[in-house]
Amino acid sequence: MECLICQRWAEEECLSFCGEAICGDCEVELMEQAVDAPGYDIRVRAFRLLWQRKFLAALDRHLMDGDPV
Ligand SMILES: [Zn+2]
Repeated sequence: MECLICQRWAEEECLSFCGEAICGDCEVELMEQAVDAPGYDIRVRAFRLLWQRKFLAALDRHLMDGDPV
């Protein structure tokens, strides 16, 4: 899988949720990140994007389920 944040190849044992992966390096950085640290905005944006995508996907699935075929 590709790391959500740095887009590098992430191994399977890295942090993974909702079908997305975050490599160990980025996970550690996220956990230790100070809000005013450089790069924080980029990571927050990446997470926001992920959540948005997941929310819309769930919404789509829900609408499809409710549709009479
Ligand atoms: Zn990474």
